[in-house]
Amino acid sequence: VDISYEQDYQIRVGQGLQKEFLSFCADRYTPDKIVVVIDEKVQRLHERKVQVLCEEYFQDVLTLTVPEGEASKSMEQWKRLVDQILEYGVERNTPLLAVGGGVTGDLAGYVASSVLRGIPLLHMPTTLLAMVDSSIGGKTGVNHSTGKNLVGAFNQPEAVFMDLDFLQTLEQTEWITGMAEILKYGAIRDPDIFGKLAELVKQPLEPSEEWQQVISQSAQIKTDIVQEDTLEAGKRAYLNFGHTFGHALEKVAGYGSLAHGEAVFAGMIAATYYSKQLGAPVDDIQFEAFLPLYKRQIQALPTNIQALNTAMRTDKKVKNNTVQLVLLKEWASPYIQPCNDLSKLEKVWQYTLSQF
Ligand code: NAD
Ligand code: ZN
Repeated sequence: VDISYEQDYQIRVGQGLQKEFLSFCADRYTPDKIVVVIDEKVQRLHERKVQVLCEEYFQDVLTLTVPEGEASKSMEQWKRLVDQILEYGVERNTPLLAVGGGVTGDLAGYVASSVLRGIPLLHMPTTLLAMVDSSIGGKTGVNHSTGKNLVGAFNQPEAVFMDLDFLQTLEQTEWITGMAEILKYGAIRDPDIFGKLAELVKQPLEPSEEWQQVISQSAQIKTDIVQEDTLEAGKRAYLNFGHTFGHALEKVAGYGSLAHGEAVFAGMIAATYYSKQLGAPVDDIQFEAFLPLYKRQIQALPTNIQALNTAMRTDKKVKNNTVQLVLLKEWASPYIQPCNDLSKLEKVWQYTLSQF
């Protein structure tokens, strides 16, 4: 499946994708060198699959592994990779292929934007989240001691290869994390996604035709929204549906103890409930089919509502001290609701926490 994108970059979704990858490279790059930045766990689980693939076309493959986990999205890892790439020696047209989840993609993408002021970037996302969300849109970067994602650059990849075969080894928890972003697309663009996903979660979580469809559809929605607003001046904010509440939950729980997707799922229940309180004809029944999955997975949500409200106020997307909530007029119709009286949200938090 090809995702259409007006700008000059391509997204391919399928199982295998060797042929597509090789012909894309042969069209664009000289066969001398490629840099591969790969998640250590993916490298281990997929036993040099990517290296062998690259060696079919490139004479020289520099493979750099990244330790698994969020801690790798750091200035230290960025420096290590830049050092190794420059010592190895690359040219302006040497491509860098990022293979892994959002952590590897964000880090490697920022490395690619810095080396020689930018070398071509290719993404090969290996988690559901990276396929439907982080590999699309061009946001790259690392974390800083003062906060998440605070150092980085917009850097659009030249192509994204979503090979569903990688998902065969993905942990159940990671499927569920990625699914929250897909549900988000259901809420803000296409409620049919809820039904499709509800069917899919009745079966074991593994790559299939149906998953491929949902992934393509999600990637297309993200592509469309980003294309309408590349530098995040307007519509792109809708992608934050559930996220302002979710970020507050993540922060109060302590980073790492609550997965992003778990927090976002709870955040979407909050945003939907609040939308309903403001008169929108939306019911969180759409999320019901998924609630047991998330309930089983989430150990505990933080219960200190004051702390949650304080955390909302310090979100990155706060403007002029006002929290910008993404709410729904109805399904598929998001809008921005500025909110500076957070006490209004007490009931929303109470309702949300009572669901888990
Ligand atoms: P991740 O990259 O840490 O991957 C999650 C886990 O899955 C890791 O342990 C990894 O080793 C493992 N893994 C990866 N591929 C696997 C596979 N095929 N089989 C088995 N295990 C595999 O996390 P993530 O959830 O993919 O991404 C989260 C990151 O993405 C966060 O840092 C977040 O800030 C970022 N993000 C960025 C954007 C963006 O627009 N750039 C959007 C959303 C999220
Ligand atoms: Zn998210």
